This record gives sequence, structure tokens and C-alpha cells, in this order.
Amino acid sequence: MEMDKLVSLCKRRGFLFQSSEIYGGLNGFWDYGPLGVELKRNVKDAWWRDMVTGHDDLAAPAGAPEPYEMTGLDCTIIMHPQVWKCSGHYDLFHDYMVDCRESKRRYRHDQVRGRWVAYQGQRIFVATTAETDHEVEDVTARALKFFKLRTKEAAELVWDETWQTLPQVTEVAQVLGPDAKVLGTLTAPREFNLMFKTFVGALSGEEGAAFLRPETAQGIFVNFKNVLDSSRVRVPFGIAQVGKSFRNEITPRNFTFRSREFEQMEIEFFCHPQSSAEWYRYWRDRRMKWYLDLGLSSERLRLREHHQEELSHYSTGTADIEYAFPFLPPGEYGELEGIAHRGDFDLRSHMEGKLDPKTRPLALEMGPDGKPRWRGSGKDLSYRDDLTNERYVPHVIEPSAGADRATLAFLCEAYCEDQAPDENGQMQTRVVMKLHPRIAPLKAAVFPLVKKDGMPEIAQDIYRALKKHFNVFYDEKGAIGRRYRRQDEAGTPYCITVDSQTLQDQTVTIRDRDSLQQWRVKVDDCVSEIRQRIG
Ligand code: ATP
Repeated sequence: MEMDKLVSLCKRRGFLFQSSEIYGGLNGFWDYGPLGVELKRNVKDAWWRDMVTGHDDLAAPAGAPEPYEMTGLDCTIIMHPQVWKCSGHYDLFHDYMVDCRESKRRYRHDQVRGRWVAYQGQRIFVATTAETDHEVEDVTARALKFFKLRTKEAAELVWDETWQTLPQVTEVAQVLGPDAKVLGTLTAPREFNLMFKTFVGALSGEEGAAFLRPETAQGIFVNFKNVLDSSRVRVPFGIAQVGKSFRNEITPRNFTFRSREFEQMEIEFFCHPQSSAEWYRYWRDRRMKWYLDLGLSSERLRLREHHQEELSHYSTGTADIEYAFPFLPPGEYGELEGIAHRGDFDLRSHMEGKLDPKTRPLALEMGPDGKPRWRGSGKDLSYRDDLTNERYVPHVIEPSAGADRATLAFLCEAYCEDQAPDENGQMQTRVVMKLHPRIAPLKAAVFPLVKKDGMPEIAQDIYRALKKHFNVFYDEKGAIGRRYRRQDEAGTPYCITVDSQTLQDQTVTIRDRDSLQQWRVKVDDCVSEIRQRIG
């Protein structure tokens, strides 16, 4: 599937728009249109239902060491600045960026790719930040321009087979920056903190400085004691949160995949240190199954365990759930969710002060003055088991998912072109979004075949009966074939049509989006039929 086709469908049908588009857009920000908002809400609702409200606290699910409880939380986006100092985001949450002296543009060092090319004894590295589909085109055009060649002379350029990223390139003087016309204009990489800074109240100096949260997780850690004290949860239990996060990504790209404002769906699961490895395995597999159950194909989805050297010192396991997004080169995958065993790092950092992740056992990080670098809250965030009387700081398993990336993966997976007959019986290419019925924005559409003979009235009654339970759509405009096509593009699993036979026997046709099969059911059975089919 070519990404351009999906991007244009998303705009045409109102799944996704560029933010502030009438002013030329703002890079890294996206708006969800009328269909998109329903799709993304359904993704978040499915997650909340499957992880939190639908979870059975009384029985151990398959693969879980024992029963556990789940509860939710909704924290603020702006929190006390000390939260980010103790969490490590203030000191460590950065990427490396490079600036271009010529174009004045800024790039994320590891996201600039390129290829070496030689012409008449000169070898240069042509860098690009173009979307993956357009990389070859972009570097070729720019190499031709640099060497003052015409398109028909392209064969004279000798390209290296492999692509490299900027950190792999040592001869910086030979680099042609992504928007530069001359060589060697990129600066050395510098650290760039990804947190958006803002000011609270009337204080504009450092005193009033605060940050937009770059993840929802910290709100859960700092409320750990509140949740313990206000509810009757016992370890093991999880706290879930869905909400906006902000990262000032240097090179936002690949549609919504890397945005500057996005939503996360995170769980912090608190357990006894001794059983944490088992819980880590449970959550890794449970989360993988969630994506499969909602329709991502097992061929495009993979679970990648981090190697020992990739792990933080305090972590005994981290895995990423990754999807082969169509905008990535073949064989490459993009992260949908990370599942990390975080030990007691977070709770202890908020209790004692920022811990040094390089120490083992974990010890406080000291500043140049020999005092703790960042002071913790001093509040006791340990847990006392009232059955055994044991007191300990729980270990944490963190499944951290992105609602926008999941939505994008579902959109990519759903996009499909097939052949179907039009109203004249001619085979035509049909674009259909094969979204899982649970997340489809509309569950059904209701049409009167023609706008007369009482058909609209019957169809409207069916629409109203369905509307009490599901999001459904009524349409009486245009040829029936065109109405079907519009719903196929919207991903609506079922279309219900009132026709002349309805007037005789009170049955309607139901058409299945994917198989195109049609069957008749009683008007009065429409609600139960749709309910049973969408599950
Ligand atoms: P990446 O390496 O792709 O930047 P990350 O490892 O920094 O991601 P985490 O900090 O683990 O991401 O965040 C958890 C989840 O939040 C990710 O798996 C992803 O789904 C989502 N996420 C993170 N950054 C972004 C972003 N810029 N745009 C959209 N979703 C994001």
C-alpha cells in the first residue's frame, strides 16, 4: 500500500487533517476529523475497557501469576517541575540535533539519512529528511543539482548501495545537508531537551517555569499513595491513564507517527519484586494479543525484546511491540508500544530524590556540591502488605502505548483495494477500510433504495432504533452504489437497505463490507443482528 493513498483518503473522508491547515499547517500537529475522532475514541475506549473496566479483578487471566486489580486516573498535563527533575526527564530527556548554517534548519541527528555518491573523483554524502517513499527521488535530484548534471546524465553518478544515518558519517565536511546547496554546513550534534517549556502564573523567570508532560506515567507515580489511601487496592494492581503528552520532536515525520502533541495509553503495574519478572512476561504477551485481537496482522506485528546492553541498569526486561508501517523501508518496524520492567526506580526517585540510573544497587545521584542532585518528595511511597506485614517498595511493569500510533497502524492495516461490481455490473476498483467492527467509526449505515414509496420513513425508523445503541449513519442521497462506496471508504462494516421487498415482507438487506455478501433480516431484528455481528 502506498502511504500517499492513505494520507489522501484520510483527508478526503475526514479521518485526519493537518493542524491549522488554512494557515499552512504546523509541522508535527494533526487534527482528527469527524470519522477520525470516532476511530481514535474507539481505540482508546477499547483499551480502557479491555485493560481497566472490563478486567475481572477476581480471577487470574491466562498467563497471569494471580488475580490483580486495575484502576484509573486522570492527571494534569502541567505538574510540579520537581516531578521532571526526579524522573530524569529534566536532565536526560533529550535528542541530539544538528543545525544547518546555510538553511537555518534544525534536524534530529539520528533521523537524517543519506547516501554516498561519487562523480568524477568527488565523493559526497547527500543527506535527506524526505519521507521514506521519496528519499531516492530527493537525493538523486539534489546530487544532480550539486554536480550540475542533467536528469539524463543520472547514470554517471555512482551511488553506495547502503543508506546511512548521520551519526554513522565521520567526514562531516563532505555532507550535503538536507536543505543545503553547499557541503559541510551542518554543525556538530548538540543536546536538545524534548520537553515543551511554559510559564505558570505571572512569573516569567525560572521561578514560574513548568513543562508540558512528555509522558503520562509520572502522574501515576506521584499519585501512587493517593490511590492506595483512597481505594482498597492491594498489590498487585495497575493504574491506567489515557491522555495528551507533548514532545518537541526535532524532526516530526511519517504522518502522525512522530507528532509533537499525541496521546498515550499507559499502565503502571505495581507488584512484589519477587514476582516482577513473571508479571513482565504476562504484560508483554497480553499487550501483543490486544493488537492482534483488534485486527493487526501477525505478519506485520512483532514483539522485539531489547538486548541486555540496551536495557537500563534497573530493568530486567523491556520489549517493544512494533509494526511494519508502510512508510518504512521493507524489513523495518516502528514502535507502537514499549513494555518495560522498571524495578523500583520511579517510586524511589520520587521518594528519596533522583537516583543515578548507572548505579547498582541504585543510589542517589549527587550534584557537584556533594548534595543530592534533585531532592525527592520525602513522602513514604512504600507498601505494607496487611496479610504478611511485609513492607517494600513495589516493582513496576509499564506497558506504554501511543493512541495515535495504534490508530495509524489500524488505518494502515485496514486500507485495501479490491474489485467489486458497480451499479451497472461493471467491475471497478473499490477502496475499502477493513477496520475491526469494534473500532470502526460507524457500525452501520441505513439507506432507503429510493426516496419514495414510504422507504425513507422505514429506513429512518431503523436508523433511530439503531442509533440508541451504536453510531450509525443515514443516507438517502445519490445512487445506491455510490452510497455503498462511501461507507466502504469510511470502514462501516454493515449497510442496511430498505427496498421494495421491505414493503411486502418487512425485511431489509444487510450487506457485509468485506465479503460483499447480502442477506435479509426482519426490520425488527436489525438491532440484535448488528449487535451480534459487531460483538
Ligand atoms: P520513539 O523511540 O519512537 O521516539 P519512545 O521509545 O521515545 O518512541 P516511549 O517514550 O516509550 O517512546 O513512549 C511510549 C509510546 O508513546 C510509544 O511507543 C509511542 O506509541 C508513543 N509516542 C512516543 N513518542 C511519540 C510521538 N512523538 N508521536 C506519537 N506517539 C509517540
